[in-house]
Amino acid sequence: MNHSHKRSTEVDAVIVGAGFSGLYMLHRLRELGFTTRMFEAADGVGGAWYWNRYPGARCDSESHYYCYSFSDEVRKEWKWSCRYPAQPEILGYLNFVADRLDLKKDIDFGTRVTAGTFDEDTHDWVVETNGGETVRARFLITAVGNTSAPSKPAIQGLDDFAGKIYYTASWPHEKIDFSGQRVGLIGTGSSGIQCTPHLAAEADRLTVFQRTANYSVPARNHLLTDAMRLEQEEKHQDLRRKTLASPIGMPFDLPQLSALEVSAEDRKRRYDELWAGGGFRFMFTSFNDLTVDLKANDTIAEYIGAKIRDTVRDPATAEVLCDFNHPAGTKRPPIDTDYYETFNRDNVNVVSIRTNPIREIMADGIILQDNERYELDTIVFATGFDAVTGSILNMNLRGKGGEALRDKWDRGPRAYLGLSPAGFPNMFMVTGPGSPSILANFPVCIEQHVDWIAECMVHMRENGIDEIEALPEPEDAWAKMIAEEANKTLLPLANSWYMGANIPGKPRVFLAYPSGVHAYTVICDDVAKRGYEGFALRSRKMAEAVS
Ligand code: NAP
Repeated sequence: MNHSHKRSTEVDAVIVGAGFSGLYMLHRLRELGFTTRMFEAADGVGGAWYWNRYPGARCDSESHYYCYSFSDEVRKEWKWSCRYPAQPEILGYLNFVADRLDLKKDIDFGTRVTAGTFDEDTHDWVVETNGGETVRARFLITAVGNTSAPSKPAIQGLDDFAGKIYYTASWPHEKIDFSGQRVGLIGTGSSGIQCTPHLAAEADRLTVFQRTANYSVPARNHLLTDAMRLEQEEKHQDLRRKTLASPIGMPFDLPQLSALEVSAEDRKRRYDELWAGGGFRFMFTSFNDLTVDLKANDTIAEYIGAKIRDTVRDPATAEVLCDFNHPAGTKRPPIDTDYYETFNRDNVNVVSIRTNPIREIMADGIILQDNERYELDTIVFATGFDAVTGSILNMNLRGKGGEALRDKWDRGPRAYLGLSPAGFPNMFMVTGPGSPSILANFPVCIEQHVDWIAECMVHMRENGIDEIEALPEPEDAWAKMIAEEANKTLLPLANSWYMGANIPGKPRVFLAYPSGVHAYTVICDDVAKRGYEGFALRSRKMAEAVS
């Protein structure tokens, strides 16, 4: 539905994207009396939860904290069915929120931003869409998500494939019937790991092509009873306090002990207990040095390896699944249901393409470097995203002096506080590169950013300020600090999407603020309290007075 014919082409803010971030941004700005236009490429709200409809798509964070916190009504009216809801339920939640707050009438669906240029004379952004519209806005706010530009590897011969091709990141809306099919799945990140058991249950044969063995942890999903929901509600304030004090934005008790200062028996007992509980707690609450000390990390990597070998009956298959080449947790840990168990099925096999990569796709299947051939009817790509920066760069943004963001970021993204790039005044990125979001619980990071941006806009309105621009020096210092802090951890050791390493030619730069969302919030609040230190604030009146 496109209402653009009735809409204003001059507004306070253009917001791009109607996922978790954009919906809350729109709500906040409307409440504060700002005029907005919101563009969303999809035909509905939901962002990542709109596009990723592959079988098995499910949240890896628990429902009671993977949700908005800004409205008590929304929280109390919505009932989560289980610990880790599946994609349709989360999409249902976002639709519920959008309807409850009457947001949809202010969103242009099916509309992509194709260009945005900052007009230095008027301090406005001039935003163009694929619908041929041009809108002027004082502020440009990107709420495009971190995992929304699918990565579609250019494998030789792909166009010659005679069967069907699907991408987990842009899955069709109708149910796909895999029965009787020989299916090849490329990719063993969270998406590939989640859909493996589902494809296996339907297909005649499933061949999983694994470039990098992952460390997956059981989710232990379960339904929520009314009693459990009541308990969560009663503990809400406490859990919320814990969440906000946490580096990862999850209400966990953080570990105090090193993995190396306890006995092997105590360590195993701790891992056993957390493995039984499932989910992120296994990685994040067992010991405090797993992501900074390789020896400590070895203990958890070995534990997961042993679990895989216990689960997978065929030793050769287990060895492929344990062929780790990076420390555990240096790629975002997948949370699964029956992933390793699925390799005990007769119709499933895993093929390592780590040293014997895919050479070519033929009309009837995949052929590896060593000429090994796999005949297939369908190929499913679970190959991830041009994460964090891809969808921002795809909008063709130009700042002061006509500088393209793509050029500014050619050696990696730069943005002060991960919020705003120098040279791009009045532009804010919700969960942008250099902010903590991808290492933490998204809704927490989103609400923090949206609130900060909204308060900054109010400050500007109240003080007659027309332009806010990040200064180059603090932006440089921010980038330097991120690299230094990341280098104190094991995170840069993996060829992960955190490092941009999954996309050929993408600069290898750590894409997140690594010291946690709590520390980050304190910094952002401080910056605001000090009158937006690190930014230049300008007003037309001031400029006129000077000239
Ligand atoms: P991903 O983690 O980037 O995994 C992509 C997989 O495809 C990797 O195994 C990668 O191998 C492989 N791959 C990529 N290009 C390839 C190529 N040219 N040839 C062969 N293999 C190739 O992507 P994802 O699984 O979609 O997950 C991305 C992120 O989205 C997750 O980390 C998570 O934050 C989020 N997500 C969350 C959930 C959830 O549980 N809620 C579910 C899905 C996604 P390499 O490792 O060797 O690059």
